[in-house]
Amino acid sequence: MRRTGRRDTAPELVLRRELHRRGLRYLVDATPPGTNRRRRADLVFRGARVAVFVDGCFWHSCPVHFVPPRRNAAWWRVKLGSITARDRDTDAALAAAGWHVVRVWEHEDVGAAADRVHGVVHARTPYRQRGRVTTTSSTGESSPACSSTARTSAHSSPPMPAPMRGTPT
Ligand SMILES: [Zn+2]
Repeated sequence: MRRTGRRDTAPELVLRRELHRRGLRYLVDATPPGTNRRRRADLVFRGARVAVFVDGCFWHSCPVHFVPPRRNAAWWRVKLGSITARDRDTDAALAAAGWHVVRVWEHEDVGAAADRVHGVVHARTPYRQRGRVTTTSSTGESSPACSSTARTSAHSSPPMPAPMRGTPT
């Protein structure tokens, strides 16, 4: 685990760079096919059918950092509640279409978040496709096999903040 300490860097970009470094390839800001929702995920792993969302602590009401605005409190409650409800609807629609949804809080340690995404993608990637992940790199960086890099962090069972299920007050 490591802290970059660079709070000005978009968490999504940091996560993308870390996953790319590990040899994972994905679509950015894409709509996972198979649902009737036109919802974009931040990262889409098509082969593994994994959709990753990086959720901002304010807009998605992070249980750790979210502080309800005092001004226009009622309006914000409705607004943010609708976003949370939409998130859960997206999760359900994707799950029904056979997608695995990973939600990452913007405050999460990038190494821990990458471990989680990496583990899920690896587990859901068919064996015959795993080889391609390492060979189709066109960027010149030879990416090591998934399993060898997954152990680089000290421990790979990151504490996961409980996602908010269903109770947008
Ligand atoms: Zn947070």
